[in-house]
Amino acid sequence: MKTNFDLILRENIKKLKAYSANKVDYKIKLDANENPFDFPAELKEIILKDLFDHPFNRYPDSDASEIKELIAGGMNTNVNKIALGNGSDELIQSLTLAFGSGSSLFFYPSFSMYGIISAACNTMTKVISLDEKFDIDIDTTLRYIKKNQPSLIFIGHPNNPTGNCFSEEKILNIIENSSGLVVIDEAYSEFSNKSFLPLISKYDNLIILRTFSKAYGLAGCRIGYMIASEKVVEHVNKVKLPFNLNSISQRIGIIALKHKKKCDEAIKTILSERDRLLGEMQKNSMIYTFPTEANFILFRTKISSKTVFNTLLSNGILIRDVTDSKLLKNCLRVTVGKPSENDAFLRAISQIIK
Ligand code: PMP
Repeated sequence: MKTNFDLILRENIKKLKAYSANKVDYKIKLDANENPFDFPAELKEIILKDLFDHPFNRYPDSDASEIKELIAGGMNTNVNKIALGNGSDELIQSLTLAFGSGSSLFFYPSFSMYGIISAACNTMTKVISLDEKFDIDIDTTLRYIKKNQPSLIFIGHPNNPTGNCFSEEKILNIIENSSGLVVIDEAYSEFSNKSFLPLISKYDNLIILRTFSKAYGLAGCRIGYMIASEKVVEHVNKVKLPFNLNSISQRIGIIALKHKKKCDEAIKTILSERDRLLGEMQKNSMIYTFPTEANFILFRTKISSKTVFNTLLSNGILIRDVTDSKLLKNCLRVTVGKPSENDAFLRAISQIIK
């Protein structure tokens, strides 16, 4: 019999597009907010030796206990408040699977996966536009929350792609007025030094989402984690696949945490390079840079962002064109790279936008 895909496919999946990362030729990659420095070679050597002695024939620890204990120790919390994911993307999915019975609320512009995962999980979405300064329009937001009480609210802190942190007072207002869960996505918090973590024991609806993909330089190893109330973790554990964090990722995460100081070294360089990039870009009157607390910079150009993107790419430099017809008109996002990569970007952009 011929398979009738149209009949068996869920309605919400029909409308979805598969996530696909850019497959273009480039020499310098500044498009995905990764750490430009590879994981330190001396730690890679420790990992390789560790993995050699590790049995590959056995399933991973489904609780990921050792890495959980290290995370809990570093954050002064207990292991029952932590869940691990195959990247923080997976935790967004687990939270939506477990709790997305009503609507999920997030802001425009923000991380695209909040919407994609909600759609895949058949959770209704509500998107509220940020204001001109990319802060939360608190009146509209509170009005929606009080009337509809969304099951989940996702807040990037700092927000991607804008790079800013929202007013903490507004976020607290949202947490206190919500009967659903408020997920503070702190994927970039190591660059902002801001966190809602101290409030985790005060609010049982607060969830902090973190990742090893950015500051730790381990995007390829897919390790994300969340800190939340025990109740939330208990339900997330019901929907997560039993061995979602493979044993190699677990071992790598453990070694990264045991050598946290070494991993942190890159952050300083990234921050000083970010300020250098900002300073240089601000000298160009055709470019407007938005304030950032992350490892990337959102900027608007007075010429077409498409031209800027394509000309940079023809120079071998890949960044992200995030333009649209609304708040992000002619906006692009560049990730802070290594000093030589940033030099190349600055040289190229000063030739393109004069
Ligand atoms: N949250 C935000 C705000 C992000 O920008 C990203 C990655 N681009 C993620 C979560 C997902 O990170 P990962 O799945 O690699 O942990």
